Amino acid sequence: KELPPVPKQEDSIRVICRFRPLNKSEEVAGSKYVVTFPSKKGQDDPTVNLGGKMYQFDRVIKPSATQEKVYDIVAKDIVKDVLGGYNGTIFAYGQTSSGKTHTMEGVLGDTTLQGIIPRIVHDIFNHIYNMEETLEFHIKVSFYEIYMDKIRDLLDVSKVNLSVHEDKNKTPFVKGATERFVSSPEEVFEVIELAKTNRHIAVTNMNEHSSRSHSVFLIQVKQENIENQKKLLGKLYLVDLAGSEKVSKTGAEGTVLDEAKNINKSLSALGNVIAALADSKGHVPYRDSKLTRILQESLGGNARTTIVICCSPASYNEAETRTTLDFGKRAK
Ligand code: ADP
Ligand code: MG
Repeated sequence: KELPPVPKQEDSIRVICRFRPLNKSEEVAGSKYVVTFPSKKGQDDPTVNLGGKMYQFDRVIKPSATQEKVYDIVAKDIVKDVLGGYNGTIFAYGQTSSGKTHTMEGVLGDTTLQGIIPRIVHDIFNHIYNMEETLEFHIKVSFYEIYMDKIRDLLDVSKVNLSVHEDKNKTPFVKGATERFVSSPEEVFEVIELAKTNRHIAVTNMNEHSSRSHSVFLIQVKQENIENQKKLLGKLYLVDLAGSEKVSKTGAEGTVLDEAKNINKSLSALGNVIAALADSKGHVPYRDSKLTRILQESLGGNARTTIVICCSPASYNEAETRTTLDFGKRAK
């Protein structure tokens, strides 16, 4: 395929930091804000102050921000690129309860509270409905999760251990993952609901499970110009990562400890890949985890990568928030 020119973007990796408001249990526990935002009300500032230390990112999103604003900052431009044949990835990173799923998915079907994924879906179809008639679009979606280094298809419960293969260009892909062709936002939402149902069926405690697995939603947009047969393919990965919190070394054993080791390994592999890409020199260790292998062609190079690091503002979570901010810093 003939590649269009590289899109303008200052960095190949953008890091956006989002703070959620204090939640009920933090309020009940008497937790206070441990962060301050130096910018004036209504102004956007790329910095946040955590206990006296300043952190700078591409953007810092305050607790009061609406889901719509988050979408505009995080995802809007990526949609245009994907329709133009580029690949991209958006990650949500952070400890459990920091707002990853709220950011990526939000409340499906609620126009105010829906997150990035449903907004992207609507936006993609809106763009397509307004395109010239000489362009033909085919959109397909996949949905799988990575748990204990196994890839499980969320659209077909019989596929519990998919493997990563390489195509003839040595590009890794998940072999045999279900691909559903979709022709409207509603059809995509049906697929997402199916994935959620399937995920529930397989586990006893959904909250615990989702904090220990990475969920990967893939949208592929194929475009063909029926006059000159020119084709473009854009892939967008939307990844809700496993919780990044440290599991206390004392107390954890058996499955919990194995899960924690696995999550640690794959999140640090991701951190290493992103740091290598940010330095834009040397070897990028994609092969160190399944997650980074799968995402290889949509991370770095000609692809758009955005990481949303999600944080609690509460004093109670200060240590984890600092670890999360440090993870984000490595990508810059
Ligand atoms: P995670 O996926 O990181 O474990 P969630 O997205 O499930 O965390 O968020 C934990 C809880 O906090 C959920 O009940 C969610 O609705 C709420 N929440 C998260 N972010 C926000 C926000 N920005 N505004 C309001 N509520 C939020
Ligand atoms: Mg979650």
